[in-house]
Amino acid sequence: MLMKQPLFLDPVFKERIWGGTALKTQFGYEIPSDQVGECWAISAHPNGPSIVKNGPYAGKTLIELWEEEPALFGNPGTDVFPLLTKILDANTDLSVQVHPDDAYAKEHENGELGKTECWYIVDCKEGAEIVFGHHAQTKDEFKRQIEKGNWSQLLRKEKIAPGDFFYVPSGTIHAIGEGTVVLETQQSSDTTYRLYDYDRVGQDGELRELHIDKSVAVSTIPHHDPAITPLKKEITGAMITTFVESAYFTVCKWEIDGKATFEGSKYLLGSVIEGKATLTVAGESYPVRKGDHFILPENTGEFTLEGEAMLIVSHE
Ligand code: ZN
Repeated sequence: MLMKQPLFLDPVFKERIWGGTALKTQFGYEIPSDQVGECWAISAHPNGPSIVKNGPYAGKTLIELWEEEPALFGNPGTDVFPLLTKILDANTDLSVQVHPDDAYAKEHENGELGKTECWYIVDCKEGAEIVFGHHAQTKDEFKRQIEKGNWSQLLRKEKIAPGDFFYVPSGTIHAIGEGTVVLETQQSSDTTYRLYDYDRVGQDGELRELHIDKSVAVSTIPHHDPAITPLKKEITGAMITTFVESAYFTVCKWEIDGKATFEGSKYLLGSVIEGKATLTVAGESYPVRKGDHFILPENTGEFTLEGEAMLIVSHE
């Protein structure tokens, strides 16, 4: 029975110069200041591991659980928990950045994973935009535009709306724009190369460090949009939208309206982003609501969600 309990996790908060208060006003979290940019909701990254808050593993970090209780995760036989779920509050624009792939990160970043990520737009202001890709056709052109500071010509912008989903493979130039709350599912990595920071100074009066050479080295040139076609499937009590099934993760939206039954085979990461429901696993019921994050262990068997709620669910 122990192995069939959902593991609820305490988030870790990160202050950022671009952060705000949406994690408190929209998700009800107790945040440490008015400039919180990131909630690391499901994390086994050493820079901010989640702690289990219920059941026999309460107090353990997700790093410890992965090492000590591999059966919860289907005995994967790998060193690191591969995924990281965050909620981001971009009160102002994030820097324009790019992440390396696994091979580059392994060689240049002490064996870190690369970072392919994806975004579900939970909320955004009218007219909000993201930077997604660039217009350069060759590496020379890319470098020339950077040297001249021709950012508006180089960067490709896209308007966004709540409910949009973006798959951001490593090598994609990207930035989340002002007034956006995003649920991000990504490889468990903290390696970011900053290409442009709008010439902002931090609280210390200094410009933040840029990583132009590494950015140029890992960027996909020319940019190409990943071909992502969401698949919708209606089951009793839920609409399931599968946004992406990639080598790194599968990410779905579960819109629960009534009582929905799921199989419970692979271990899953779940984040409630709207509403509330009752999760019933192995005969035990757990209330879940907006802002809750949990891992459902491998092989729980059938489980149900009953209520009115929206979840972002991911797995390897
Ligand atoms: Zn990123």
